[in-house]
Amino acid sequence: MTTPERSAAETQIDELLDQLLTDNDPHGDRLDFMGAQFDLGLAWVHFPEGHGGLDLSRRLQKRVNDRLDEATPHRPSFFHVIGHGMGAPVMLTHGTEGQKTRHLRPLFTGEEVWCQLFSEPGAGSDVAGLAARAIKDGDEWVVNGQKVWTTVAHVAKWGMIVVRTDPDAPKHLGMTYFLMDMESDGIEVKPLRQITGEAEFNEVFMTDVRIPDSQRIDAVGAGWRVALTTLMNERVAIGGAVAPRNSGPIGDLMEVWRQHGGSEHDRDELMKLWVEAEAGRLTNIRANQNATAGTPGPEGSTGKLVYAELNKKIYHLATELMGPAGMGYDSYEFIQPETAEEISTDTRRRFLRVRANSIEGGTSEIMKNIIGERVLGLPGEPRVDKHLPWNEVPRS
Ligand SMILES: Cc1cc2nc3c(=O)[nH]c(=O)nc-3n(C[C@H](O)[C@H](O)[C@H](O)COP(=O)(O)OP(=O)(O)OC[C@H]3O[C@@H](n4cnc5c(N)ncnc54)[C@H](O)[C@@H]3O)c2cc1C
Repeated sequence: MTTPERSAAETQIDELLDQLLTDNDPHGDRLDFMGAQFDLGLAWVHFPEGHGGLDLSRRLQKRVNDRLDEATPHRPSFFHVIGHGMGAPVMLTHGTEGQKTRHLRPLFTGEEVWCQLFSEPGAGSDVAGLAARAIKDGDEWVVNGQKVWTTVAHVAKWGMIVVRTDPDAPKHLGMTYFLMDMESDGIEVKPLRQITGEAEFNEVFMTDVRIPDSQRIDAVGAGWRVALTTLMNERVAIGGAVAPRNSGPIGDLMEVWRQHGGSEHDRDELMKLWVEAEAGRLTNIRANQNATAGTPGPEGSTGKLVYAELNKKIYHLATELMGPAGMGYDSYEFIQPETAEEISTDTRRRFLRVRANSIEGGTSEIMKNIIGERVLGLPGEPRVDKHLPWNEVPRS
């Protein structure tokens, strides 16, 4: 068998990887190693040169990740779905050159953690109905209001926030998007505890918080457009990951099966779930190969929907196979994790955590609405408040 010839881009990547691994200790300081990876353009190869990339096809990032994982599987690394999966593409699409230069490197290395301040007590699925206000005062904006379910706000340095800047405009047109320094005066972060016992997320109260206009992302009034970039990328970041075959939730279920066994009926269920998981995995591989540097389309909602519903079925069967042991979740210790990534390998904890998969990043009902309307072209839901000025929309 002959080795397929490497393209010029692949050769460039391989040489830069050699340089990265020769000149830097992957097991040393994480910020140094990931900083060097960013500087060589190997953070996101499809990003522009000078901003962590090489202007190459997004598909080639897999070559970088695979090689680093093979060569240094235990290196200290950092991946955060909100910063990497959502913040970085928002910067790429809407950030100024200055904002990209200031923010992308510390975002990539994890030196600065990002959070997402969209949901409010009265605006979740209908995030465009949000009420937190910002009023311009010279070169600054003054923000008042409340956000909720803000994952890792307790450790975040920067918050992607959408606020209402023109209450007289229809709801989608009167919002503006900022990157808010979470260490600013007037921000209070209070933990919210989940059924796992942990508090990944928080309530965030803002009283006269000042955001410099230079931290505005895109134009005044363009907040919905930037929010959509964030949300489209969020769905793909949550539901579009490609894990090796038989790993992740389905791998957990197979391990539980090996330890506890089950009935013929359980075996049938296991096989059905395995096929669904594999079909989802292969679909994500195909989607990743077609992905470009831009914003993913509404079809990104498919992976998110499948992932959320499948995970719940997988851990339901896993806890059933465990019998009484499946009910004995015994650690409700209050912790505030530093990332939203999975930190526990306890199947019983995962059973509880995956309940949130069909809520976070948009509920399964909303994913079905998006797929129905924007992918299948079915008639839209009635939206009676779409053209009304936001301050004339009745709300409780
Ligand atoms: C673990 C977790 C982490 C989160 N992290 C963040 C975060 O970091 N930042 C952030 O901003 N938000 C975050 N969220 C919030 C999340 O985005 C919202 O919870 C979600 O969008 C739903 O909004 P809601 O809770 O207000 O429910 P609602 O919108 O009030 O929905 C209630 C129910 O009504 C259904 N529903 C609503 N509208 C429709 C419709 N048009 N058609 C059919 N059914 C409908 C919903 O599907 C749901 O079942 C997080 C949530 C979770 C669970």
